[in-house]
Amino acid sequence: MKILILGGTEEARTLADALVAMGHDVTTSYAGRTTDPLRPGGEIRAGGFGGGRGLADYLLANSFRRLVDATHPYSVRMATNAVEASRLTGVRLVRLTRPVWIEPQYAFWHHMPNAEATADALPAGARVLLTVGHRNLDVFLRRTDCSFVVRSIEPPEKPLPVTARSLLARPPFFVGAETELMRQEGISHLVTKNSGGVQTEAKLKAAQQLRVAVLMIARPQLPPAHEVPTVGRAIAALHLERE
Ligand code: NAP
Repeated sequence: MKILILGGTEEARTLADALVAMGHDVTTSYAGRTTDPLRPGGEIRAGGFGGGRGLADYLLANSFRRLVDATHPYSVRMATNAVEASRLTGVRLVRLTRPVWIEPQYAFWHHMPNAEATADALPAGARVLLTVGHRNLDVFLRRTDCSFVVRSIEPPEKPLPVTARSLLARPPFFVGAETELMRQEGISHLVTKNSGGVQTEAKLKAAQQLRVAVLMIARPQLPPAHEVPTVGRAIAALHLERE
């Protein structure tokens, strides 16, 4: 069956590999922002579709029968477009979203509603490990009374202020190295989205060990869709045996 996966995540890649191994005709779509992403099996395409209607046109023009939104849980626009495209075309949509990280009993987490509130909550003098990707960097970096280690896969789009340094690194990350990084950098606060998954969760264990405060930015609300937490459940929800 012809399946389009909206990707950019580890689980999108795992799902594509599994569906290809099952003999399906799979295309994975990337936004096109990460240079040299790890390639899954099947076809690859890159770049936006032009909103929900553009995605609907693409699905119909290429005769896709299933759509999987396996983008990051904070990718609200793509999730919204996927729902609209499914409604316009009748193509079955499954959203594959990793479960959230659960706060360990002895952790030091502060639950924040959004990036702005998180930036405001940092105390003056905080030494911050900032792991929020590219979006909203400015919101944090205007806090010139704090200093930042900005970790990202791709270099920041603009030069950083003197209060921040860029650290380029690609997951997976491991507890030993995360602990060493936080210790060496004198980190007092970790700012993160609740991305979930195993690739980047080591920072939370390191923060707990070092008693570094975690400012956890809540997941955004996504439009209703058939949502599943694992690759196996996504395969089942696609109803590949039908049609
Ligand atoms: P977003 O805000 O929801 O989407 C912005 C626009 O980018 C969409 O409207 C769409 O353009 C295009 N787009 C996004 N994902 C796409 C995909 N997989 N294939 C084709 N076009 C896509 O997305 P975002 O949060 O910036 O994330 C962009 C990509 O990075 C996603 O693929 C996501 O899985 C990945 N990612 C995001 C995060 C994060 O923290 N946000 C973390 C890790 C990976 P059109 O409207 O023109 O179609």
